[in-house]
Amino acid sequence: MFIDVRVGDQVTMRKKHPCGGFDWEVVRIGADIGLVCNTCQRKVMLPRGTFNKRVKKIHPRPNSEE
Ligand SMILES: [Zn+2]
Repeated sequence: MFIDVRVGDQVTMRKKHPCGGFDWEVVRIGADIGLVCNTCQRKVMLPRGTFNKRVKKIHPRPNSEE
């Protein structure tokens, strides 16, 4: 399944980060998805397939128009 995600989107993951946070901001899109933890500001890169499996919810920005 292809998930439409963009830089700036807030996402909730199924598995919690060691810091306890579930919410991340998308900072890079490519073969890998770059994410910054909203709780500890740590950055991680996940292959798209792994990201798709771990993501629980994508929160589009309220001002995004499409
Ligand atoms: Zn964290």
